[in-house]
Amino acid sequence: MEHYSVAVIAGDGIGPEVMAEGLKALQAVERVHNWIRFDIRCLDWNCGYYARHGRMMPDNGLEILRDFDAILLGAIGAPDVPDHISVWELILPIRRRFHQYVNLRPIKLLKGLESPLRHKGQAELDFVVVRENTEGEYSNMGGRLHAGTPYELAIQNNVFTRFGVERVIRYAFSLAQSLGRKRVTAATKSNGINHSMPFWDEVFRDVSRSHPEIRTDLFHIDALAAYFVSRPEIFDVVVASNLFGDILTDLGAAVVGGLGLAPSGNINPEREYPSMFEPIHGSAPDIAGKGIANPIATIWSVSMMMDHLGHREMGQLLLDGIEEVLVEGVVRTPDIGGRATTSEMGDAIVNSIMRKA
Ligand code: ATP
Ligand code: MG
Repeated sequence: MEHYSVAVIAGDGIGPEVMAEGLKALQAVERVHNWIRFDIRCLDWNCGYYARHGRMMPDNGLEILRDFDAILLGAIGAPDVPDHISVWELILPIRRRFHQYVNLRPIKLLKGLESPLRHKGQAELDFVVVRENTEGEYSNMGGRLHAGTPYELAIQNNVFTRFGVERVIRYAFSLAQSLGRKRVTAATKSNGINHSMPFWDEVFRDVSRSHPEIRTDLFHIDALAAYFVSRPEIFDVVVASNLFGDILTDLGAAVVGGLGLAPSGNINPEREYPSMFEPIHGSAPDIAGKGIANPIATIWSVSMMMDHLGHREMGQLLLDGIEEVLVEGVVRTPDIGGRATTSEMGDAIVNSIMRKA
């Protein structure tokens, strides 16, 4: 028997609703492969916990998480708790402490779905964005001066270290290699940002020299964003800084059908610490409690966790299960044109996984 320990932070809003379906899918994997077991520990760290304790997680929260093989996160955030608390006191410490310096986001149009890019053939939309997850534009360095005067100003510093840039770009190349992909595209803006971006480009070129078999492109972020819509078939692996990657991946989610479908992994490639998998959507207060959230992004995130744990065939099993339900087209949540509830969607995917056993 092979055991994996998984910490589950279902979180707020629709987080617990979609996570319930993610866990059902995980149990389905156990039933299909009866030699594998997931030891689940649910942690109630969310905005409700904050209301009771004045913090998002216990003081030793990171120590608790450290020993798990992986972390699953639903969504964190509530209208009455500012993001700088919910995000800065839970998600960011986890990403930093566990050196999850890669944010991995597949941009793939699933079978059975039509992209908003109707002029594009279905098979062409299949690539991965690697977003830098620890530094860059989201540095928390800077400040504001001269408030209330005509000279008021705000400064935000970007921090790009050779260590940080090099490791994420190296990851992008080795990912391309392991997926058998031919091309790595980097997002830049060295025509407008004249210190950090030329440095980023330089490191990209340096790293690319050790991978002569892989084709490389450096595109300015404005053009690259347009290509996501007009020429998405040219991409295999796209690597971007924290801010550029953030924007590109939301755009990517939109071109493959919306937030309810978009998964992500916060990866520690060295596997010294647990990686964390989560849908990219938030707590969606507008639909929370209604039972209509789409659980596919979460189930796909579980699939990415399986890949990361070294069981690609199980990751594929989950993805095949999702695609089969979409191709049948009967059970769909409202965001993708149906009337099914979150749990009906989850059940349909579980049934389709079990049929493959
Ligand atoms: P947060 O502050 O937690 O990020 P948010 O208000 O930004 O929350 P998101 O969760 O990012 O909201 O969602 C943005 C929009 O997408 C909302 O209208 C929401 O209803 C929709 N949405 C997000 N996730 C899903 C989902 N899984 N299924 C269906 N609709 C979703
Ligand atoms: Mg949001």
